[in-house]
Amino acid sequence: MRVEEIQIAVADVVLPPPDITVSEWADENRRLSSESAAERGEWRTDRAPYQRAIMDALSPSHPCEQVVLMSGAQLGKTSILENFIGYIIGLDPGPVLLVQPREADCEAFSKDRLAPMLRDCSTLRGKVAGVRSRDSNNTILHKKFTGGSITMSAASSPAGLAMRSIRYCLLDEVDRYPASAGAEGDPVNLAITRTANFWNRKIVLCSTPTVKGASRIEAAWMESNQQTYWVPCPHCGGPQVLRWSNVEWPEGEPEQARYRCEHCSQMIGEHQKASMLKHGEWRAVRSESEGMLVAGFWINSL
Ligand SMILES: [Zn+2]
Repeated sequence: MRVEEIQIAVADVVLPPPDITVSEWADENRRLSSESAAERGEWRTDRAPYQRAIMDALSPSHPCEQVVLMSGAQLGKTSILENFIGYIIGLDPGPVLLVQPREADCEAFSKDRLAPMLRDCSTLRGKVAGVRSRDSNNTILHKKFTGGSITMSAASSPAGLAMRSIRYCLLDEVDRYPASAGAEGDPVNLAITRTANFWNRKIVLCSTPTVKGASRIEAAWMESNQQTYWVPCPHCGGPQVLRWSNVEWPEGEPEQARYRCEHCSQMIGEHQKASMLKHGEWRAVRSESEGMLVAGFWINSL
């Protein structure tokens, strides 16, 4: 290798990553679109504070290279993926592969999520050209932007998963993937293999868990540092992970449901939830110092 080549290689390696995190980027730049959000307007991470640590693990300044998110429905999993894609396009470009269970899911994501975000975030506007019929750089499932591209592929499509080298591998709803992509084997492994050439890769697995014991996302979470979200009781301050078994309601009146604190046994009402979530924190079973490169987050719909 010549001296100039070494200098270029070193410059590439030591170039500092953007020092703002994904949640900071979203708070500054993200506008919610009417197609995908109940409330339009500015994104605010404070509305769902448990999302901050997840987004920040996706940030280039965070040492983990894989993020596992096991969550109930309606907890903003898709918004987190959108924010990450916005961050990549706006700030830290590279090739992205986004995998969904079926091609129809890819098309829906592209039209109902990605396109409105690109239209409504002023920092992203113009970075990705609109879909034109004779332009292979920009189709519904493949879009180029300065310094990168995003390809959306179904988990059942071996051709889509084996295409090219990718830096960002986003695997959505992994528990709904088929066992094998055609005859090529596990679609998750197939997609992750594409990231091998990137020292600064980020891999995201997310899903609502399905059958216990046969769940891909649960297995991946077990391999992670196993974080759960702990919230303080508004009465006694005792920290706990919310569990369905502690929800109680009068016979025949589930709308009167309240939560029994596992420390002081006092009842907690729905109106106290926002404050509890705000003061909550992620706690890991396995520490980062064990050399874990996988940050795992598990939160249920409670
Ligand atoms: Zn309590």
